Amino acid sequence: LISFDQLQKNFGPLEVLRGVTGEIYPKDVISIIGPSGCGKSTFLRCLNRLEPISGGQLEVTGVDLSGAKIDQKHLRQLRVRVGMVFQHFNLFPHLTVLQNLLLAPRKVLQIPMAEAKDRALTYLDKVGLGTKADNYPDQLSGGQKQRVAIARGLCMKPEILLFDEPTSALDPELVGEVLNVMKQLAEEGMTMAVVTHEMQFAREVSNRVFFFNQGIIEEEGDPDEVFRNPKSDRLRAFLSRIQ
Ligand code: ATP
Ligand code: MG
Repeated sequence: LISFDQLQKNFGPLEVLRGVTGEIYPKDVISIIGPSGCGKSTFLRCLNRLEPISGGQLEVTGVDLSGAKIDQKHLRQLRVRVGMVFQHFNLFPHLTVLQNLLLAPRKVLQIPMAEAKDRALTYLDKVGLGTKADNYPDQLSGGQKQRVAIARGLCMKPEILLFDEPTSALDPELVGEVLNVMKQLAEEGMTMAVVTHEMQFAREVSNRVFFFNQGIIEEEGDPDEVFRNPKSDRLRAFLSRIQ
C-alpha cells in the first residue's frame, strides 16, 4: 500500500529523515515509537504530502511522491486515500459535529447531501457518538472530540488512517475510549499507522512496530519480539525509560 526506500527529509541543514526504508501492507496496524524529535511526525506528514520529501523513493496508494512536484488531481486523490488524525483533533469550532463530518465528503468527494449525512451518522454511531451530531466541539470531552475526528477521517473511506499521538492530549481516564475505537477499527481490517506512546496498544493491537531513532527505522518487527527481545541498545534504553 505504501513503500519507501531511503526516504530523506531535510529542513534546511537539519536532516530529519536520513534514509527510511520499509513497506506498509493492507491491513497492517503499525505502531511508530521512538524518542522525541526523531522524526515520527515528519514521517507521517511525508506520507500524505503535508511535507514534500527531500530524497529517496516514496509511493503511497499508487501515487509516486518521489518527485518535487505533484499535480492537484493526484494530490486530491492522495488526501482522500490517506486520512490523518491529529493530537489536537483539529475540528472546526464554529461547526457542529455533523457539519464537521459533512465538510470534506461534500466539498472534496462531492457526495450528495443525503448520502453524506447517512455516512456521517453511520460513523458517528460507530465511534459511540450517535447522539452528539448537533453538538459543537467545545461541548464535548477530549475523548469525544478525538472520536469525532476519527469518524471524520472514516467518512472519506480512506485506504489508510495515520494517527499522530491521538491520545497524548487527553486526560488519562479518556485515553481508553479512543484506543478502544482504534482497536475496533483494527479488528475490522482498517490499515493504520499510529505514532504512539501507548505501549499497551502497540503490543496488543499493532502487528508491527517501527522504532524510529535519529531519522531512521532502527528496529522493526512483530511487537512481541520487539518488546521482549529488543536487538539494539537504543531500543532497550528507550523501552526501559518509558515502561
Ligand atoms: P515528538 O515525539 O516530540 O513529537 P517527532 O519524532 O514527532 O517528535 P518531528 O516532529 O518529526 O519529531 O521532528 C523532527 C525534527 O524536525 C525536530 O528536530 C524538529 O524540530 C524538526 N522539524 C519538524 N518540523 C519542522 C519544520 N516544519 N521546520 C523545521 N524543523 C522542523
Ligand atoms: Mg511528533
